[in-house]
Amino acid sequence: MSGVNEIRSTFLDYFAKAGHTVVPSSSLVPKNDPTLMFTNAGMVQFKNVFTGVEKRPYVTATSSQKCVRAGGKHNDLDNVGYTARHHTFFEMLGNFSFGDYFKEQAITLAWGLITKELGLKPDRLLVTVYADDDEAAGLWRKIAGFGDDKIIRIGTSDNFWQMGDTGPCGPCSEIFIDQGPALQGGPPGSPDEDGDRFLEFWNLVFMQYEQLRPGERNPLPRPSIDTGMGLERIAAILQGVHSNYDTDLFRALIDAVAHVLSRGPDASNVASYRVIADHLRSVSFLIADGVLPSNEGRGYVLRRIMRRAMRHLELLGAREPVMFRLVPTLVREMGQAFPELVRAEALISETLRLEETRFRKTLERGLAILDTESRGLTKGQNLSGETAFTLYDTYGFPLDLTQDALKARGIGVDTGAFDMAMTRQKQAARAAWKGSGEAATETVWFDIRERNGASEFLGYEAEETEAVAT
Ligand code: ATP
Ligand code: MG
Ligand code: MG
Ligand code: MG
Repeated sequence: MSGVNEIRSTFLDYFAKAGHTVVPSSSLVPKNDPTLMFTNAGMVQFKNVFTGVEKRPYVTATSSQKCVRAGGKHNDLDNVGYTARHHTFFEMLGNFSFGDYFKEQAITLAWGLITKELGLKPDRLLVTVYADDDEAAGLWRKIAGFGDDKIIRIGTSDNFWQMGDTGPCGPCSEIFIDQGPALQGGPPGSPDEDGDRFLEFWNLVFMQYEQLRPGERNPLPRPSIDTGMGLERIAAILQGVHSNYDTDLFRALIDAVAHVLSRGPDASNVASYRVIADHLRSVSFLIADGVLPSNEGRGYVLRRIMRRAMRHLELLGAREPVMFRLVPTLVREMGQAFPELVRAEALISETLRLEETRFRKTLERGLAILDTESRGLTKGQNLSGETAFTLYDTYGFPLDLTQDALKARGIGVDTGAFDMAMTRQKQAARAAWKGSGEAATETVWFDIRERNGASEFLGYEAEETEAVAT
């Protein structure tokens, strides 16, 4: 059985042998790209190479890219803890051709890797292609020997990949594995495709266009290839488990959570352990790439993820800051592949310790309010927007933390009333202070309701003089 670190090397070595230059992961904070909050795919660092704006000394490349999908076009924050296959932070293994090879070689290389090098059984595999992409369908017939039943044509955005609202894009072909009838779910394109039985693990994108603005796209100078395979998903497949959280790497992280809490997971609370392990990775890597918690923009997304993890730690019985004590395990597991994690270890620990110390001052009381105010509610009902706003404004509960806390009971939040309370507060703040106007660019990137104008968190000041309530 191969561990995650070994699988990463196998992938990169395979493409290096096929002539690709191994390129290190770029930062989670995209350089010079105001359209994107976080790096969400392997192609992001090559965006200008695809469009021909930038030249590199190579025409083919391979990488294992750090990705965060917790905002913007690809946002998986709400999936984490509820699916076996989504993380906020994950590694995307990829191979790239900048006007060198195209569809045929991309499919040949992918098929060789998964069936020969990694040993997956062809009869468990199936693929999707974009509805009118006869060329890709023909190549899968030829290279993999698939009949039409294994080549599913899909005409939706699932098979037309876009980084964001603008940028390089094109039709794609995705590789799925059938994990067997013991799991729920139907094949891609079927009404119950969201089950766990058929797992998407590799996306081959045939980069042909550049999206300039909605409704307007240009052909790229030369057709190119961009692929992305989730390392955690292929690891689960190769290790014979059905959840990414049961792979060697996540088992080590979940064990660390159990260790600091002196309590292991059971069926009723395992989702919390998973969320904590997931969020530990995203927050640590974001801090290592220079993001710090704040009340707006990227820093607020970081804060939201941190606090979600901290609420789950509280649920599991933590009564003092503990998240920072998980950092050494993460560094041990991933520091060799990502030296920035080793360099930033002290900063990560200190940032987590400080944030958890602060948040703990209001967390317990906030949860008590949430409990009281939602007690009478039943499935399908909403928590009042005023309460959600008080939790946000006075107790430091990001809106999505409140939503996440109620989700398991099927209770929502009256977000309309929450927005109104937020607007009222912003107007009051504006009347008292004429801003610098610098927030303008932020509004392009971020969902206004959740991030823009996130008010100065009053809880700290109000509570600062009191003893930590533990
Ligand atoms: P899904 O349909 O499962 O949400 P996706 O179609 O959004 O995945 P792509 O944008 O095609 O994913 O990304 C390429 C690959 O990256 C996926 O095939 C998958 O292996 C991996 N991947 C995507 N999102 C995540 C995630 N949130 N966590 C872990 N791996 C992911
Ligand atoms: Mg997705
Ligand atoms: Mg998909
Ligand atoms: Mg996909």
